[in-house]
Amino acid sequence: MKRLLLILLLLLAVAPAAHADRVRVRLFSGNKINSLNVSFDLGTYNLFADGDQLLEAMVGEGRSVHIRPDDGRLHVSVNEDDYGTYTTLHLMATDTACILCLNPEGCKQRTYEGNLEVSLLKNGTLQLVNDVEFETYIAGVVQSEIYGTQSDIFRIQAIISRTWALRNMKKHAAEGYNFCDYVHCQAYQNRCIRPDIMIGAIQSTGETLVDADGHLIETPFHSNSGGQTANSEDVWKAALPYLRSVQDTFSFRMRQSDWVKTISLDRWLSYFRKTHKINVDDSANRSELLHFTQESRKVRLLGVPLTRIRSDFQLKSTFFSVSVDSVTRSVVLHGHGFGHGVGLSQEGTIRMVGLGYSYDSILRHYYTGAVIHLDPTANPAYVENYAAQLARIIEEDKNKKTQVRSKKDDWLGRLFRLRDREEREEVYIEEEQNNEQDWQYEW
Ligand SMILES: [Zn+2]
Repeated sequence: MKRLLLILLLLLAVAPAAHADRVRVRLFSGNKINSLNVSFDLGTYNLFADGDQLLEAMVGEGRSVHIRPDDGRLHVSVNEDDYGTYTTLHLMATDTACILCLNPEGCKQRTYEGNLEVSLLKNGTLQLVNDVEFETYIAGVVQSEIYGTQSDIFRIQAIISRTWALRNMKKHAAEGYNFCDYVHCQAYQNRCIRPDIMIGAIQSTGETLVDADGHLIETPFHSNSGGQTANSEDVWKAALPYLRSVQDTFSFRMRQSDWVKTISLDRWLSYFRKTHKINVDDSANRSELLHFTQESRKVRLLGVPLTRIRSDFQLKSTFFSVSVDSVTRSVVLHGHGFGHGVGLSQEGTIRMVGLGYSYDSILRHYYTGAVIHLDPTANPAYVENYAAQLARIIEEDKNKKTQVRSKKDDWLGRLFRLRDREEREEVYIEEEQNNEQDWQYEW
């Protein structure tokens, strides 16, 4: 009886999490996919077709599933075996540690955790949707959205990406999924493969950014502010109290701090004359167009929104000054920063973490008056234990003489093997302790 209970508990421990905090993310949303090959890096999957008809149990390492459109339906084969045509296909993970390897025709390979749904779009190409645990998605987003080496950088990105996601769960509701994997929503270009990024994401478990009333805030971010962030109403319409322009010297001397762009004098002037009906022969106008400066951020140039100029000339930012090169008859734009400038500067964040600022003070610097809210159901002991296990894996890696690792031998597999071992040991110890009382349950 007792043994049966333990087995049941063990089964529950490895079964896919049954709670509702999952997301559906469309993958390769920027590509037209004419065919797809799926292989398996870790764990096993069940392959289902229309109405949950099981086509193949336990597809895993060494097998590959090929899917292509065929006369308005999906043709599926496993290795070389033909399985017919259907309207929808599902690859369902049998465990929490399962990794799919997606190779759409003409695209670079990516790997993802969780389940995969394949269907046909109206234009006859494939739609791929990853049904995945919410926090696994967040870790993948963090890896795609920011660079760095310190865990607080990833913790901060995880908090703002989680906050954004929770605010925008219905973004693609009409299309039957939550998010796309492109910058339209948040970049999700792969599963998280780096344990150091995972530590930052795990440490942020349950943390979101809220306003004074406890509501989730908008959390826009950009690569580099150029030294000063922008007010939300200067870039978009709404003036939000937590998206205020702040001085940001932390964004100086980083990869994207400064840029230069040269545009021919004729093109620059005719743009303002033709597109914005500005009299460029008027000396005052001409002087402003050729000698415009921004010591601090401005919003318009001769009434034209800088955001419009940025978009029309594909500039890295609106934070630029103009000078003339009379030899080449061109204007030279000297700009600062990269991105819209509203909210958090990622490179400013990287610098601040490097200087030892705490993650919450960095978030307060960029989101005026915002507060970190901790979900009361978050389990600090779980977070601590998970982070410690990952730290152990990083330490093991450091001590390895070679960097060569097998495809399967990445942190997720190792983490789960580690957990399995610990669980087995726990059960073993518990069984030993209970041996003496076992007779009580024999009835
Ligand atoms: Zn989107």
